[in-house]
Amino acid sequence: MISITGQSFIAGQWVTPEGENFQSFNPYEKTSMYAFSSSGAVEVEQACQAAEQAFQQYRKLDGKAIGSLLDKIADEIEALGDQLLDVADSETGLGRVRLTGERGRTCGQLRAFGALVRKGEWVQASIDTALPDRAPVPKPDLRRMLLGIGPVAVFGASNFPFAFSVAGGDTASALAAGNPVIVKGHPAHPATSELFAHAIASAIKQCGMPDGVFSLLQGAGNELGAALVRHPSVEAVGFTGSESGGRALMDIAAARPRPIPVFAEMGSINPLFIGPATLEAQAESIAAGLSGSVCMGTGQFCTSPGLAVSVASEAFETALKDTLSEAPRGYLLNPQIAASLHRGLERLKKHPRVEWLNEAGFDAGSMTPPNAVFKTSARDFLADKTLSEEVFGPVTLYVVCDDEAQIMQVAESLNGNLTASVHADEDMALAARLYAVLEQKVGRVIYNGYPTGVEVCPSQQHGGPYPASSMSTATSVGTGAIVRFARFVAYQGTPQALLPDALKNDNPLGIYRMVNGALTKAAI
Ligand code: NAP
Repeated sequence: MISITGQSFIAGQWVTPEGENFQSFNPYEKTSMYAFSSSGAVEVEQACQAAEQAFQQYRKLDGKAIGSLLDKIADEIEALGDQLLDVADSETGLGRVRLTGERGRTCGQLRAFGALVRKGEWVQASIDTALPDRAPVPKPDLRRMLLGIGPVAVFGASNFPFAFSVAGGDTASALAAGNPVIVKGHPAHPATSELFAHAIASAIKQCGMPDGVFSLLQGAGNELGAALVRHPSVEAVGFTGSESGGRALMDIAAARPRPIPVFAEMGSINPLFIGPATLEAQAESIAAGLSGSVCMGTGQFCTSPGLAVSVASEAFETALKDTLSEAPRGYLLNPQIAASLHRGLERLKKHPRVEWLNEAGFDAGSMTPPNAVFKTSARDFLADKTLSEEVFGPVTLYVVCDDEAQIMQVAESLNGNLTASVHADEDMALAARLYAVLEQKVGRVIYNGYPTGVEVCPSQQHGGPYPASSMSTATSVGTGAIVRFARFVAYQGTPQALLPDALKNDNPLGIYRMVNGALTKAAI
């Protein structure tokens, strides 16, 4: 068993910062737990300097070495055993079943990035050989590939204490691309974060990696994260959380003398559209599927379906109301999220044009919210932008449209989202019109399904137009996430001895490359 010390971890050393103390919170018992001291400017400086130094060594390592590190981190996470599940459950209230699944996903992600970098093709090597006799000007030899960007600051997410926290997808993809990582731990699960730091530290030692390749700064309060993003050694940021937090970090990064990219995954209401004839045929089954998705993880998913858009249906309304009311209440992650949900429910409850179909109590201070469904008309929804704001928790708003034209109006009115779902087996013409609009608004369009339960694979897209993400071109889930933390470098007229292996004539890595416009593994 590892004892929790409340320290931060900087480049191979456990340190006790002198900042203010904070404690994690047990949502089951409503009690404070482990005490931590906050890192500050001194620790940011130490971690960033160490990361910058480590980058010069780490960036030169081959895919085999980095792949072994990622695999070893996964092994060490598994070796934490039940302690990890127990500590995380006590800090998040997510339950052992969910956390066991999330641990599997986290280790799977690490190993998937390990396999990706061992294979080597993620660098997208491209070679255009010279045409010295081309008229009127000769064509130079040009070769291009992706290289790691430099130290990456990662913000742990409250709602994914494993898969999007200390050793989550942002860390795995940044390390895979050849970058040191400095994690700003989420203050809601610091003991869980400390355990992950032990696993990563052990893997770094066993693989003989430079110490500065990983640091964990624990802390509560905006200043720590802001100082990290401002630090000149940090080259990119990975974030999952609120729109206000993500936007603040984007603005800080943009205001630096040398701005850097921020890959922030923020708010999303994940609309679900149901064609009128489909609703008539499948009211009960769609209501059951939607309820399950709304309640999953107590609604604390960025993909939780916060909007159901269709025509009026008493059968659907009754089934949705009943299934959500009958579903057991889950636990919220922390008092801040509980307070924010409380405000969101009150706002909808007091709204004169919105009806709470299954109104139920939610005392201030309670960590177990009702699974709520509200109803409004499309006309009122379209007239009030606040009704399309995310209410983070097990809440959905049924938007009742007069007809297909109004369903389309709602689709066209939406901001950027991570996902949209379409149920339209009996309404294929409408489905085609919806797809044409939704593919411009979201990162993933789902047919006959529900948005929660995000598959981790190369074809996944988890990111959408703002405010769903800061960069709609990027994904934070799946192996495609690696390119966020790399940049293309082209080498012109460069001798073989100076080229990275991926671009050499004899293709020593044996990878697929685009050579003069054709994909091939052949040597030149
Ligand atoms: P958050 O408030 O955005 O915080 C996430 C991380 O960013 C924390 O480490 C926080 O540090 C830091 N941070 C936030 N604002 C900052 C600022 N202005 N400057 C510097 N650092 C900042 O997210 P959260 O704590 O996970 O949850 C709060 C709310 O976010 C929820 O109620 C929910 O509405 C939303 N949320 C949405 C998603 C989603 O996927 N859509 C996921 C999680 C949460 P400190 O707390 O130490 O300042």
